[in-house]
Amino acid sequence: MAYQSINPATGALVKTFDNHTDAQVQAALAVAHAVYKSDWSKGDIQPRLAVLDKLADLIEARSEQLAVTLVQEMGKRISEARFEVQMSADIARYYARNAAGFLAGRKLETAHGDAWTEYHPIGVVVAVEPWNFPLYQLIRVAGPNIAVGNPVLAKHASNVPQAAAAFEQLVRAAGAPAGVWTNLYASGDQVAALIADDRVQGVALTGSEKAGSIVAAQAGKYLKKSVLELGGADVFMVLDDADVDKAAEVGAAARLYVAGQACNAAKRFLVHEKVADRFLEKFTAIFAGIKVGDPMDESADMGPLCSLAARADIAQQVDNAVQAGATLHYGGKALPGPGAYYSPTILTNVTRDNPAYFSEFFGPVAQVYVVRSDDEAVELANDSMFGLSGVVFSADVERARKLASRIETGSVWINTRSSTSPELPFGGVKRSGYGRELAEDGLKELVNQKMIVVA
Ligand code: NAP
Repeated sequence: MAYQSINPATGALVKTFDNHTDAQVQAALAVAHAVYKSDWSKGDIQPRLAVLDKLADLIEARSEQLAVTLVQEMGKRISEARFEVQMSADIARYYARNAAGFLAGRKLETAHGDAWTEYHPIGVVVAVEPWNFPLYQLIRVAGPNIAVGNPVLAKHASNVPQAAAAFEQLVRAAGAPAGVWTNLYASGDQVAALIADDRVQGVALTGSEKAGSIVAAQAGKYLKKSVLELGGADVFMVLDDADVDKAAEVGAAARLYVAGQACNAAKRFLVHEKVADRFLEKFTAIFAGIKVGDPMDESADMGPLCSLAARADIAQQVDNAVQAGATLHYGGKALPGPGAYYSPTILTNVTRDNPAYFSEFFGPVAQVYVVRSDDEAVELANDSMFGLSGVVFSADVERARKLASRIETGSVWINTRSSTSPELPFGGVKRSGYGRELAEDGLKELVNQKMIVVA
């Protein structure tokens, strides 16, 4: 795990960061634990909320600089980066304004006397985060944990070290004492050692199934609660009564956003046979019209993948899918030049025995399936290891609601794409992970929900 900023649009190495030593990691843990034992964590919530409020202001004040850092480290388009930065400020402000209410405690009706629940911090939390939303992923953890008083040791992805450092500086500049949020350029072994330590009481990981399974096993071994936000192969259902043009437009945007590298991107398009030809025609025309280019160029529709290695992986996945019988309907090409560019791609005729059927494609590759009924759409949707989110497009909202209830995912979005917002809980089922982030639900994951009774 070498911490390096490499611009995916050019391949240029921008900056390298040294890994923290074991001694530095242990020192950071000691400082974080001291914060947990101090008034900062155990005392009044208001100073913590003031930090979140200030953090929101600082993110907004430095928004353009932050957005450019995101573009240069992981290649998302500048408009996508600006949206992420604003969303991050919104999350900080959301918890600044609402956490006191969420953590106010609640009275319990019981025959045992006067009873209530109080919410307390649990201790130091270890966070392991991915590169695709370098700022948003951190604030998703920082918001609730700062509010409740859990100090966080954060291991960000090794390709976004500048974003990781910038975020730590912002939290300090917002008035948080040292140890409230610590960025660690740590190895997997160092993360494992932290999780094993008694002072660490919670683990949050967003990333791949593989990393999730390793880190959750470490947390389980030492009986630490974990929250896992993992991959997805979200469905985008287009029913026979849907506005097909709109569905194709929204679906293409949902698939190609951040060059297809979003966990909750639409990845499997399940289209009713009556509208399948029209949908595919429109969908293909949109893919063909996508301008792939420099993510700093405001007129580009899609930037590069996050690295040449990520592009090689997605190209290999597409080749494997085609060799196993899928039809390459559109695209499927690495684009010339030094950047990690790949064409928007559509696969059809993906059968159940094709490895692509059960795989997450973390890049701009759509799979289109034709279905004959709502039941078949639900069956196909649920025939997946993943269960993050899903979309249903239909003119009949009642019909869409019924389908939404039957889809095995953490959320379903009707007549729009899957997205995120501070007040909406985010998370999945099956191999997409467990627990929730954001909203009140996310705040209460790594919290001691203490019950007290007075007889
Ligand atoms: P990844 O390889 O799992 O990396 C995610 C983080 O885990 C990075 O910080 C990585 O560090 C770290 N990591 C990897 N192996 C580790 C280990 N053995 N011990 C400790 N840390 C370890 O994921 P990715 O491929 O970069 O990210 C894409 C995946 O994340 C996709 O599957 C996507 O769907 C998922 N994702 C899910 C959500 C959600 O909310 N559900 C959101 C965004 C992304 P290094 O970078 O140093 O390897």
